[in-house]
Amino acid sequence: MMNFDFTPEQEMLRSTVRKFVDKEIMPYIKEWDERGYFDPNIMKRLAELNLMGVCIPEEYGGAGMDYNSLAIVCEELERGDTAFRTAVSVHIGLNSLTLLQWGTEEQKQKYLVPQAKGEKIGAFGLTEPGAGSDVAAISTTAVRDGDYYILNGQKTWISLCDIADHFIVFAYTDKSKKHHGISAFIVERTMPGFSSKAIKGKLGIRAGNTGELFFDNVRVPKENLLGHEGEGFKIAMSALDNGRFTVAAGAVGLIMACLEASVKYCHERKTFGKEIGRHQLVQQMIANMEAGLQISRLLVYKAGYLKNQGKRNTRETSLAKWIACDFANKAADDAVQIHGAYGYSNEYPVERYLRNSKAPVIYEGTREIHTIMQAEYVLGYRKDKPLRKMLPAWNPESVKL
Ligand SMILES: Cc1cc2nc3c(=O)[nH]c(=O)nc-3n(C[C@H](O)[C@H](O)[C@H](O)COP(=O)(O)OP(=O)(O)OC[C@H]3O[C@@H](n4cnc5c(N)ncnc54)[C@H](O)[C@@H]3O)c2cc1C
Repeated sequence: MMNFDFTPEQEMLRSTVRKFVDKEIMPYIKEWDERGYFDPNIMKRLAELNLMGVCIPEEYGGAGMDYNSLAIVCEELERGDTAFRTAVSVHIGLNSLTLLQWGTEEQKQKYLVPQAKGEKIGAFGLTEPGAGSDVAAISTTAVRDGDYYILNGQKTWISLCDIADHFIVFAYTDKSKKHHGISAFIVERTMPGFSSKAIKGKLGIRAGNTGELFFDNVRVPKENLLGHEGEGFKIAMSALDNGRFTVAAGAVGLIMACLEASVKYCHERKTFGKEIGRHQLVQQMIANMEAGLQISRLLVYKAGYLKNQGKRNTRETSLAKWIACDFANKAADDAVQIHGAYGYSNEYPVERYLRNSKAPVIYEGTREIHTIMQAEYVLGYRKDKPLRKMLPAWNPESVKL
């Protein structure tokens, strides 16, 4: 039997996050966006609500809810602003779930538990000035020296660069093996030789923190190698399966926000003697947003369902991420169109939605990369090989909220 119902716990979760966003983000976001200010208190408040580890098992400090509950949190947060959903995407999707999947018991106790409780913040450093889509082009290196690895290099476009306490960082331990020579490390901000710097002048997600990481002979204990040497590429790709899921869910939230603003304006604004919502071409934009919302949501929850079962979902997650982000970008464009000239000023939130909707079409696999992935799956050129470690299936016994 297929079941499209939310559980009472999921309904309660949605209502909690919605109230939080309405009270603690909506009244301030316009100013934060204008100032380019990331409010760290939002992460603290999310921790108080037990949401910084919403789908992390209770034994590791989380709320033990299912993976679609993570999607609900992301939808509702991005309804407020993409910056806070992005923060949750990197903290939970790219970092904490990667520790859950690949970490040793010691690494989980040391890093995952405080992250799930929201006492520490996690981020993810893959992209470099010369390497985005082409991950194997990274040039950061990690050279073994006794009980340490010495990291040198630079990352860029890293979300929470100045905020996070722990980073999962990818570096070559053996360049000659190409992507089989990349390894993953847990790096702490306090390790000597580490520094970060925010990027200014972003198109969108201005209320978020994004920037560069620098590694100048950073000595990382060998215990902080995540997975085996040479397993970094696989770890990065499996992390993206979870990050992309949260990005797709967030895009659903952005479409909700576009619809909310557009429907309200359609009833307020009159032209030619009637509400603009009565004009068929405006209705077409509203109908497209609704279709995008429903299609994207189904794709997201299907990916979440597979995660709950502990099944591989790279293909389904990529499709959800590609389609939802494209629909959100189009919905935001149409929301500005519906608002006419008023949509072009920050008197209304839709110009922020349009600016915010662009980065998700670029990060965690560009539109083009996901298009190629989907074609390759269909054509039989791409097959997912089994992983040494899978993301654990959801255990319904472990709910705590
Ligand atoms: C706001 C923001 C936050 C981010 N946060 C993080 C983060 O936390 N951690 C992190 O590691 N990274 C992060 N990124 C970086 C992001 O993941 C990369 O920007 C993304 O992977 C694309 O890489 P690139 O920008 O180098 O583009 P490129 O890879 O240089 O691509 C440029 C263009 O060429 C196209 N292209 C490339 N290869 C192909 C191909 N084979 N076929 C067809 N077209 C192709 C792309 O689709 C794109 O249109 C963030 C980016 C942004 C904007």
